[in-house]
Amino acid sequence: MLWVTYCATALSKASSWLSTMTSATNQKAVFLDRDGVINSDRGYVSQWSEFELLPGVVTALADMQALGYRLIIVTNQSGIGRGFYTEGDFAALSTQLIDFLAGHDVQLTAIYHCPHHPTEAQGGFKKHCDCRKPQPGMVLRGVDDWQLEVEACALVGDKSSDIEAGRRAGIGHLFQVASEGEIEGDGVTSVTDLPGVVKYLTALAEQ
Ligand SMILES: [Mg+2]
Ligand SMILES: [Zn+2]
Repeated sequence: MLWVTYCATALSKASSWLSTMTSATNQKAVFLDRDGVINSDRGYVSQWSEFELLPGVVTALADMQALGYRLIIVTNQSGIGRGFYTEGDFAALSTQLIDFLAGHDVQLTAIYHCPHHPTEAQGGFKKHCDCRKPQPGMVLRGVDDWQLEVEACALVGDKSSDIEAGRRAGIGHLFQVASEGEIEGDGVTSVTDLPGVVKYLTALAEQ
């Protein structure tokens, strides 16, 4: 695993399959919040043993990939800044997730995380950063790193802060998986889970 920046985890494995993708599929991605979208949000999940995949997630990710989307996780991880777990713990868990998904032929393009918190974090982690959602920094970084067309991209989150980050980045298709109640505002599609997002993206591809 290659640590590209403080807030970004890019995957060295990407190079091995990048070349197999066509240029058309390189231009769009689904940005995925992690906790509450991919795995159940138990609060500060930091170990694989606590990582409970939500139903249908692996198939949904494979379907998104088949539709030509890159898969990019954008996750607030203030538990690092708060001292609940370390960057190393997060990297180890990320590696386990990457390897697990790879075993199901699902390739993550990148995982971006924000370890900061403006008031509750310790030391250098305590800051008003531009990466903690609802700030769009992680999404914008992904768009730039992978040369994506924002209007063609989708973002899936369970909280209003996720949706807001996508909005500020100009992401074309915003999806909320239900858990926090419906988010007010135009342009957000409510779904029950990740397979629900696939239905919309499939319909979009058929338009
Ligand atoms: Mg979440
Ligand atoms: Zn941050």
